[in-house]
Amino acid sequence: MTEESPALYVVATPLGNLGDLSARATEVLRAVPWVAAEDTRHSAPLLRHIGSPARLLPAHEHNEEAAARQVIERLAAGESVALISDAGTPAVSDPGARIVGHVRAAGYRIVPLPGPCAAVTALSASGLTVPHWLFHGFLPAKAKQREETLRELAPQPAALVFYEAPHRILETMAALAATLGPVRRIVIARELTKLFETIHVCPLGEALAWLDTDPNRQRGEFVLIVDAPEAEDGDQAEAGRVLKLLLDDGLPVKQAAKLAHAITGAPKNALYERALALRGDK
Ligand code: SAM
Repeated sequence: MTEESPALYVVATPLGNLGDLSARATEVLRAVPWVAAEDTRHSAPLLRHIGSPARLLPAHEHNEEAAARQVIERLAAGESVALISDAGTPAVSDPGARIVGHVRAAGYRIVPLPGPCAAVTALSASGLTVPHWLFHGFLPAKAKQREETLRELAPQPAALVFYEAPHRILETMAALAATLGPVRRIVIARELTKLFETIHVCPLGEALAWLDTDPNRQRGEFVLIVDAPEAEDGDQAEAGRVLKLLLDDGLPVKQAAKLAHAITGAPKNALYERALALRGDK
């Protein structure tokens, strides 16, 4: 922290293991006079642990506008502020984005201090080799909206990354398997960096049974990563294209599958199933 002008430091904090607070984050949190925190009671012990004398400003999702004004007042008075959330990186499924936007609009420096993030931590240990991933965070709590969201995400050629809390893990897992099918692999990353850290990889169709085997597996905080759908080979893509043309032309499912089989040689049953899915019957 050698710069003269005041800045908003956006500081990532540990997911569980205090040893993950970076040296730079420690230095900044000790040096700034103010820390804007999602939950001041939650963050006070962290600041005490590193001997930070900073005063705390509340900055949670329900007061972000007011918090932004307070932060800008401090910056206008020449004092730097650090922004932290309860765990991980601010503004990642956490408050912070609005404050950053207002502070930037007011012309002050924003300095990010990278560090823990549950999604990236889970990805790093997933072993998934797909080059793209799509961070969704929390799914909607209502079943219908959740299913719609999952249907939209399903064909994306990317690993899908979700956050989930323990009280919804079973429901969410059932919805993932029902909508994305039993074959895609899922990485269940639980309690990362904590005592009961667990990283389990299995086909989606086996995930509910795995959770059910031991109630402890349903406890704690979760990152769920569903692997990308298997890429189609050229023949499968061609069969799909022909099938879609026939359905778009108004042919019934059975006839479209039969004709697509005759034209492309792809298996009739698979074409029939696919035609049902394309028409929205499945
Ligand atoms: N900003 C945080 C980040 O950078 O990852 C995420 C905050 S979000 C409110 C909290 C969610 O993150 C939890 O419900 C869980 O899905 C995930 N999470 C946080 N800590 C975790 C951990 N130690 N292990 C697994 N997931 C975690």
